[in-house]
Amino acid sequence: MARLYDSRKRILVTGGAGFIGSHLVDRLLEQGHDVLCADNLFTGSKRNIDQFHNHPRFEFMRHDVTFPLYVEVDEIYNLACPASPVHYQHDPVQTTKTSVHGAINVLGLAKRLGIRVFQASTSEVYGDPTVHPQTEAYWGNVNPIGPRSCYDEGKRCAETLFFDYHRQHQLDIKVARIFNTYGPRMHPADGRVVSNFIMQALRDEPITIFGDGSQTRSFCYVDDLVEGFLRLMATGPEITGPVNLGNPNEFTINELARTIVEMTGSKSEVVYLDLPQDDPRQRQPDISLAKQTLDWQPTIELEKGLGWTIDYFRALLPELVGNGSGNST
Ligand code: NAD
Ligand code: UDP
Repeated sequence: MARLYDSRKRILVTGGAGFIGSHLVDRLLEQGHDVLCADNLFTGSKRNIDQFHNHPRFEFMRHDVTFPLYVEVDEIYNLACPASPVHYQHDPVQTTKTSVHGAINVLGLAKRLGIRVFQASTSEVYGDPTVHPQTEAYWGNVNPIGPRSCYDEGKRCAETLFFDYHRQHQLDIKVARIFNTYGPRMHPADGRVVSNFIMQALRDEPITIFGDGSQTRSFCYVDDLVEGFLRLMATGPEITGPVNLGNPNEFTINELARTIVEMTGSKSEVVYLDLPQDDPRQRQPDISLAKQTLDWQPTIELEKGLGWTIDYFRALLPELVGNGSGNST
């Protein structure tokens, strides 16, 4: 039975020790909820949740979502999954299992408890898009057998499972398609472009641009994104998504590199390396649906968000000395 005594809920966040998950935990605790964070710490870290250590409404559980979870909660946010190409390609079979078995396990739990469940899906379901900007109606252009497929197809299958549980079992689902998000608590060595460029710039190391840098991405600051999650979760059961959540301001990777070098005052030079296989050429969310149904749009400009993110990594630097990988879990 779901515990719906009052507006204070007990909320499960899978992947809650990760970058986005830990910011979501922040907001849920602020709102007065009890939070159970289930995470296997593959890419997340205790550092991200240290501040909740003695919090009376926070509980951490080391758990791999590919195994069933038996807990009593009122709502679930399913975020568990490595998100950076370097990490999700490290053990691709486990990545697909995390998305697919993880979805089956949280959906089974939500079905047993009769509760609402949120899925952190991704713009990667659009693959290397032939439609620009991407709307939710676009079915995508995904290579099913390439190095990114473990993530892209895993997330696509998870969406399928969410919608089948909705149709077949009337489960109350919320599916968000998240576009590139950045901010403090990104893993310094996770290989994503924002963390890579900032770490390289702060260390005056070469900025590694893959390809010619003309490919585009649209970067959303994490606080804006989490606000979108909360608004989506607060909608009635008729709103299932998928809903794009991201910042529509689009930049080339060259522009991002220039901005970060300027903002850090770095002496770094730029080096051009091979573009990874199936790297999407362009990506920009059409967020009309989110504006209309959630009254949501990002409010934080790239330079402002980058400033806070640079401050975070700068403060982290002394701890990373002698630990070149930046591996700080
Ligand atoms: P992250 O790697 O920082 O966080 C993922 C968390 O999931 C980590 O704490 C990790 O330890 C945990 N995890 C991984 N496999 C697990 C497993 N089998 N069992 C339990 N926990 C597991 O990544 P993030 O950027 O915070 O992404 C969070 C979610 O948002 C992911 O589902 C990701 O696919 C999605 N997303 C992120 C972005 C982005 O730009 N950051 C874009 C699109 C979608
Ligand atoms: N990228 C880059 N240099 C890096 C890391 C990434 O040029 O050191 C590029 C990458 O090839 C891609 C873009 O930046 O075109 C975004 O990469 P990221 O891994 O952050 O996210 P995704 O490709 O999943 O959007």
